[in-house]
Amino acid sequence: MQVKIQTEELQNYLADSSNMPGGHAERLVVPETADEVASILREASDAGTPVTVSGARTGTVGGALPFGGVVLSMERLNKIKSIDKIAMTAVVEPGVLLGELQKAVEAEGLFYPPDPTEWSCQIGGNAATNASGARSFKYGATREYINGMTVVLADGDVLRLRRGEGFSNADGTIDLTTATGKTITAKVPTYPRPDVRKNVSGYFNEQPLDAIDLFIGSEGTLGVITELELKLLPNPEGFFSGIAFFAKHEDLAAFVDEARQRSFQSRLQPPATAVGSDLNATLLEYFDDRSLAFIREKFPETPDGMAGAVFFEQETTAGTEDTLFEVWNALLEKHNADVDRSWFTTTEQDREKMRAFRHALPLAANERYTRYKQKKVSTDMAVPVAEFAGFLRFQKEMLERSGIEYIIFGHIGDCHLHVNLFPKDDDEALRARHIYGRFIAHAIMIGGCVSAEHGIGKLKSKYLYVAMGERYLNEMAELKRAFDPKGILGRGNMFDEKYI
Ligand SMILES: Cc1cc2nc3c(=O)[nH]c(=O)nc-3n(C[C@H](O)[C@H](O)[C@H](O)COP(=O)(O)OP(=O)(O)OC[C@H]3O[C@@H](n4cnc5c(N)ncnc54)[C@H](O)[C@@H]3O)c2cc1C
Repeated sequence: MQVKIQTEELQNYLADSSNMPGGHAERLVVPETADEVASILREASDAGTPVTVSGARTGTVGGALPFGGVVLSMERLNKIKSIDKIAMTAVVEPGVLLGELQKAVEAEGLFYPPDPTEWSCQIGGNAATNASGARSFKYGATREYINGMTVVLADGDVLRLRRGEGFSNADGTIDLTTATGKTITAKVPTYPRPDVRKNVSGYFNEQPLDAIDLFIGSEGTLGVITELELKLLPNPEGFFSGIAFFAKHEDLAAFVDEARQRSFQSRLQPPATAVGSDLNATLLEYFDDRSLAFIREKFPETPDGMAGAVFFEQETTAGTEDTLFEVWNALLEKHNADVDRSWFTTTEQDREKMRAFRHALPLAANERYTRYKQKKVSTDMAVPVAEFAGFLRFQKEMLERSGIEYIIFGHIGDCHLHVNLFPKDDDEALRARHIYGRFIAHAIMIGGCVSAEHGIGKLKSKYLYVAMGERYLNEMAELKRAFDPKGILGRGNMFDEKYI
C-alpha cells in the first residue's frame, strides 16, 4: 500500500471533470488488496477521519473530490480476475479501466454494453455512479450488468451481495448480514420515482429493493466497492451506424420520435435483445447546430448550415444488414434528412470515428470551461417522453434570450439532453446558474429528475434538495447512518453534511 502526503503527490487527486475548485486532503492512500481497504477504513472510522473514494476522476459532479481527510484511490485494485465465456460473466476489481475491460471481453467474443463515452473511467466508478451513456437507450445502465459485488463498509466490515438474493421487507426496511455476522437494518427512503428512462438522483429505492441496487449509484457514500461480477452479452456480429444531418429541427424531432417509437415496438418482440430486421436503435444521440459548430473545430468535414444531427446505430447480422440499411434510409428520407451529406457505415473503423466525433463534444466543452476558468454549468436532467419536446423548446428559448454561449447535445432517445452553458465572466456565470435553476425547477414540475446519469456529487446537492426537500434528504441520511454511523464516507456527496 502506498501512502502519500506531499502536496505535489496529492495534486492530481484534488480535481475531476467537474472543474470544482478547493479540493484538499491530508493523505492519499493507494491500497492493493481489499484487506488493505478494510484496514484503512477501520483506522479512519476509529479516528473519525473523512474518506473520499477516488476512481479515475472522470466524474463531472465532484463526487471523487476530497474536502479534507483521506483520499482512497482504487487505481491499484485493477485486475480482471476472470472472464467466463460460458456463463458470460467477468469478475473484476474496481480499478479496472472501462476501455481495458471492453477490449478484454471483446477478445473473448463477448460484449459489455455500458458505455459512458469516456473510456478512461474505472468500473468501480461506473458502479458507484450507475453510469450510462449513449448505448443505454437499448441496453440500459451499469446497474443491469452487475450480478455481484463486494463492499467494504466504513468500519472495515464486508458485505457480499448477489443479485436476487436479498430484498427489502414489506415494511420498507432491508436487513443485511456482514462477513462478521453483524446484521444491519436500514430503512429504504420513500421518495416517489420519476417516470423517466434514466435517473441517478439519490439512493435507488425501487420496491421491493434488491440489496445490491442500494449500493449501485450510491456515489461512495455507503461503502467501498472492492470487487464486481459483471454480466456480459455475446459480441454483436456487426453494427450499422450513421450520423444524419437535418436542415430543419422539426424534421429531426419527428425522425427521433419515430425511431424511438419503432425501437420500443421492436423490443416488445421476445427476446428483447434479438437482432431483427425491424428498426431497433442501440443509440439515438443529438447534436444541436451550436454543437456542430463546436465539433467542426476538430472535424472540419462536418456540414455547415444544419439545424442539427442525430447519431444512430443498430446491431446487424450478415442476413439483416441490407434490409436495415433500407429501413433506416426510408425513415431518413421520410423526415427530410440531408441524406447526401450524412455519413453511414458498417465498418468498425468508421464506427470508431463516429464515436470519436460524439466524444469530441464533451471533451471540447470541458476544454472551454478550463479556458474560461469557470465552473461547469452542465445539465443532466431527464424528463418524461410526453414532456420532452416542450421542455427542449422552453430551454432553447431561454438560452437564446440569455446571450450566453451554449450547446445542447446528448441522449435524445432517452429524453435526456445535456445543456452546457459557457459563461465568460462572473456576471454571465451568475446568470448561467440562474438559468440552470429555472431548468431544474421546470424539469421537476413536469415530472423529470435532477440527474439522469452523472450523479449528484457535491456540485448538484443543492438541486437534489430542491427536488427532494428536507424530509427525503433526512431519509437518505438515515439510510447512510445505518451503514456509516460516523459519516466518514463520501462526505458532502448527494446531501449536505448537516443531515448526517
Ligand atoms: C468526456 C466525458 C464524457 C462523459 N460521458 C458520460 C456519459 O455519457 N454517461 C455517464 O454516466 N457519465 C459520463 N461521464 C462521467 C463519468 O465518466 C462517469 O461518472 C464515470 O462513471 C466516473 O467513473 P470514475 O472512475 O472516473 O469515477 P470518479 O469520478 O473517480 O468517482 C465517481 C464517484 O464514484 C465514487 N467511487 C469511485 N470508485 C468507487 C469505488 N470503488 N467504491 C465506491 N465508490 C467509488 C467516487 O467517490 C465518486 O463519488 C463523462 C465524463 C467525461 C469526462
